[in-house]
Amino acid sequence: MKETNTGIFTAPNALEYLEREPDMQVQKLAERLWTVTDGVRRSIFLEGDTSVIAFDTFGTPGAARAYGQAIVQAIPGKPIKTIIYSHDHLDHAGFADDLAPDAEIIADEMCAKVIEVRRAKGQLKPTRRLSGERHEMDIDGVRFTLLNPGPTHGTGNMSAWFADEKVLFSSDTILPNARYGLMPDYHIWNFVRFMRGFLDLDWNTFVPGRYEVSNRARFEIGCDFIEAVQEESQRAFAEFVPIWMLDAMQGYVGGKLSERFGSLEGFEEHIGLIAVRVVHHYLMGGWGLEDTPAPGLVLADEVA
Ligand SMILES: [Zn+2]
Repeated sequence: MKETNTGIFTAPNALEYLEREPDMQVQKLAERLWTVTDGVRRSIFLEGDTSVIAFDTFGTPGAARAYGQAIVQAIPGKPIKTIIYSHDHLDHAGFADDLAPDAEIIADEMCAKVIEVRRAKGQLKPTRRLSGERHEMDIDGVRFTLLNPGPTHGTGNMSAWFADEKVLFSSDTILPNARYGLMPDYHIWNFVRFMRGFLDLDWNTFVPGRYEVSNRARFEIGCDFIEAVQEESQRAFAEFVPIWMLDAMQGYVGGKLSERFGSLEGFEEHIGLIAVRVVHHYLMGGWGLEDTPAPGLVLADEVA
């Protein structure tokens, strides 16, 4: 098979990666709500009266096809008529063309803007753009709330709250472990503040954008963990730690936090990378307008 939807890859040797169709694991969370993973990334889909509402597409044409097959097995006879992009990233939302090319695609306006100009092959443009922080959705008999409190990860990240089912889905934000990796596109300035805001809502089950299904208590620990990395990364300046060096940051921040957070899965392997990423937020001032105390300014052009 030769993929035509190659995202932004240019090298032919990426084809093998793009073609592979992973095994998908599906789990029913509530009457009309399912979660699905390819072993790394995770998403959700909903059973409407006559159709399926799918969040995201997974990150390759092969994975998008496998996602579609998993949905057919779980909900036979109902086509995917709606796709909701959690955020712009290709590893989550890059391949609607291989999942359901005729679906209505809903996304936040900033996410839609990035996708319009990125023109990645396979990432279909949103057909319906949402502006603002909160949207009460009623699609094909299913009701839920889409939330974008402000820049957290990627562009136009929308989380979904299912009030009746007491479930929150928020992609690539708080993870159920310490595998936040390099976090190149986490907007540190407001990240924990916006995430903690979700704790004002009533939910018990947390579905992250990767790894296993989690819960409210672990979500809170995830917030505490990032906050603690922020604090110790700042202290590293005062202690003259060479902040650009992985080993040095791993030793310093890892040493400070191992007692409190060392039991988080992935802590040892990732704390150095996370600390190097976070410390540069303080060194440089953040990553553009969305990483300031007034992130709403990134929307100024939209409003005009
Ligand atoms: Zn992402």
